[in-house]
Amino acid sequence: MEFELKILGSSSATPSVDRNHTAQVLTIGNQLNLIDCGEGTQMQLMRYKVKHQRICNIFISHLHGDHFFGLFGLLSTMHLQNRSAPLTIFGPPGLADILTTQFKYSNTQFSFKLTFKELDTTAYTKIFEDKYITVHTLPMQHRVSCCGFLFREKPKLRHLVKAKLPDFLIPPQLVRLKYGEDILDDTGGVLVKNEDVTSAPSHSRSYAFCSDTRYKEDIIPYIRHVDLLYHEATFLDDMRERAEVVYHSTAKQAATLALKAEVKRLLIGHFSVRYKDLTPLLDEAKAVFDNTHLALEGKTIGILE
Ligand SMILES: [Zn+2]
Ligand SMILES: [Zn+2]
Repeated sequence: MEFELKILGSSSATPSVDRNHTAQVLTIGNQLNLIDCGEGTQMQLMRYKVKHQRICNIFISHLHGDHFFGLFGLLSTMHLQNRSAPLTIFGPPGLADILTTQFKYSNTQFSFKLTFKELDTTAYTKIFEDKYITVHTLPMQHRVSCCGFLFREKPKLRHLVKAKLPDFLIPPQLVRLKYGEDILDDTGGVLVKNEDVTSAPSHSRSYAFCSDTRYKEDIIPYIRHVDLLYHEATFLDDMRERAEVVYHSTAKQAATLALKAEVKRLLIGHFSVRYKDLTPLLDEAKAVFDNTHLALEGKTIGILE
């Protein structure tokens, strides 16, 4: 199953000609999840050939414009193109009011079922679950209510080792083996020991999106060992005091969190427009956590099982 992140925007506060506001698409199997939706997101979706009709869920971290101003245009386009598939938007308190007011005055009756799920951004809470994944909020520390999102595949079934399977097993018994059970005989004795005929399940993949925030170590238990961590890195560390005042982080802080949480890979983004060249931000982070990459527009990161 595919588990792939595509970056649509990397700029903080104001955009520039080659950097868009925050938006990312996380594809998990057939399901497309849009994470934040800064201004111009629908143009970025077109540019990178992501079909917006396939987006099932939209997750909005907070109500600063650089993270959700693109919703008005994207939802309008979905409606104008006669979307029929339902769509769920997860966002902080107030988002439903803002959008409902906007579409009330444009007299828009959506062609599809639109559901709002209001988030408690202050707690680590499960907000979505299906057969394959769970999504939890990650409390951030920002100037307004703000949370990140942790996407995690559910534990997977064990693999059957065909060469070792006895011929007499019937399909329901094979299913039980996949769930890790032994096969018992009529007297309750072990007929087939699970570990003799199965191998460990595939790795359950994970992605943590840490939106606008001050450096915040108390989220480490939630993001420990994730395959991929996105963390904002608005400034270089020589602006650490400024970052503190405006509730943002530096590249060095993002890397320090990645190191302490022992994640596999770090993506940094949400760059201040003052940095025309992003190399110093990357170098600063890599000095602390080597497996760091820039969340540049169009970049795709697949995570293998
Ligand atoms: Zn922002
Ligand atoms: Zn913000």
